[in-house]
Amino acid sequence: MSLPFTEEQIERYSRQILLPRIGGSGQQRLLQTAMVLIGSGTMAATAAWYLAGAGVGRLFWLDEGGPVGSQIAEIPALNPDVELIRLASRADMTMDQIASCRLALLCDSDQTVAGLPLLAAWSNDLGGYLIADRSAQLDSVDAPCWRCATACYRTITSSDDDSTIPTTALSAGWLATLLASTAIATLLDIAPLPTQGIAALAATSVYQPFAISPQPGCPWCGPITDQIDISADICPMTAVRVKLKLESMSVDGRLRILLRGQEPLENIPLLLRQTGYRCSEPRHDLNHTGLFMLESCRDRANTP
Ligand SMILES: [Zn+2]
Repeated sequence: MSLPFTEEQIERYSRQILLPRIGGSGQQRLLQTAMVLIGSGTMAATAAWYLAGAGVGRLFWLDEGGPVGSQIAEIPALNPDVELIRLASRADMTMDQIASCRLALLCDSDQTVAGLPLLAAWSNDLGGYLIADRSAQLDSVDAPCWRCATACYRTITSSDDDSTIPTTALSAGWLATLLASTAIATLLDIAPLPTQGIAALAATSVYQPFAISPQPGCPWCGPITDQIDISADICPMTAVRVKLKLESMSVDGRLRILLRGQEPLENIPLLLRQTGYRCSEPRHDLNHTGLFMLESCRDRANTP
């Protein structure tokens, strides 16, 4: 049985179809794949063009209003097989749309989409770095988050590199090619998401892997030690129960709070901060409509 390609598609994807680990079946999978692209700078535009050229079928693009957003908007003209769905905010994405995506690609941005594995890169004058973040997936909460990866990257670049040249735009393009090719390898199951960070060092044009570990006092990652469900409570019991729970926890504890409704979503993060705790952004529990979860731990920077 021959794969259903049009003559135009056979011509468009001929070089990829010839690659042994892609072939016709891999190309079909790419065309049926949806993913999220976040960012509107040079890196996002470059990565978007690579992904569109490769034939990733559906791109949900979270437009951050950056300088080259218009180049991303032109993608359907580059490849009519690609459906580009432009979003102004994360809230515009429905649960079904999130569930249809395999991956979120974060390009020089600090936004994420809860519930999706994340491949992220940031560029700077030294080059930049790429990491994969599994902590967004609800079933792997022990993985280090991208914020901790950022801290680990700083430790390898802060040493003796004073030969900095202003290369940010070049770095962004360089990181974009790495990001797009890693994404495609992941989408086609050619390679798993990297477990280490990859630093791109502009001064020497080399890639250097670096280990990522959860940083002490990070509310976004590390094992959950305590959990409280206040989804059936109303104000002020929501706050009272969280306060009592915090008082019963060890100083190193990390609490997960399950909550529902506007009142606790606004007030509980406030209460946590006033009590000397840091907290993650509330995120949807994808298995239960209307249920949110947030994680919290003691703010070590402000409580000795
Ligand atoms: Zn972390």
